[in-house]
Amino acid sequence: MQPGPRINLPGTREEDCFGWAYGSVREVGTALAGQEYLQGLLRQRRFDLDKLLQVPDGVDRLGWLFEHMRQICIEMGLYVAQIRKECTEQTCPMMRANEAPFYCAGHGHPRPCSAIGYAVHTLDYAVRLLTSAFPGGGSGSVDEASQKHFQSMVRRLYRIFAHAYFHHREFFERQEAASYLYARFVRLARKYGLVLEAQLVIPDLPTTVEAAA
Ligand SMILES: [Zn+2]
Ligand SMILES: [Zn+2]
Repeated sequence: MQPGPRINLPGTREEDCFGWAYGSVREVGTALAGQEYLQGLLRQRRFDLDKLLQVPDGVDRLGWLFEHMRQICIEMGLYVAQIRKECTEQTCPMMRANEAPFYCAGHGHPRPCSAIGYAVHTLDYAVRLLTSAFPGGGSGSVDEASQKHFQSMVRRLYRIFAHAYFHHREFFERQEAASYLYARFVRLARKYGLVLEAQLVIPDLPTTVEAAA
């Protein structure tokens, strides 16, 4: 961690940029404190899922879920931009995980969609929901009733990973080794009771299960 003001001084090497972390959410002291705190943690401890999911002081439990979901959507945007290089309307004209096609909810009424279309439309829907349905989100409190929105969001976002796993395995593994994004998503969903185990069609990875104490 670098002491002093949190700025990237001229000449800072790229890998050292944003190299600071925050001791607490309160220390960040901005309206987007929760988000900044989480992003600081990710820069320092991306692979420490226990630490990342631990609710920090100054944020309530659902507020932390909100911050994670928002961050996951940001990272999934990059994920989808990458998978686009090999997952196209031609290679995957129908959104599937392992078996039956999924209908896409991003069209007014559900209808079949290509895998990449489904991914883009579902992320749009999730981001819209995060900004409109959870007005208290940024301030760290989320209505308990909003949790059901999270459940349907998680179910739909999960299918993007499942498609990658079953149809673009090399891509999935490469991304996961570099980011632990899928593992973080599953661990979060489990922690908050947002998925049924039967919905998790990707076999458990060492990273998706909590290490035995
Ligand atoms: Zn595909
Ligand atoms: Zn669609």
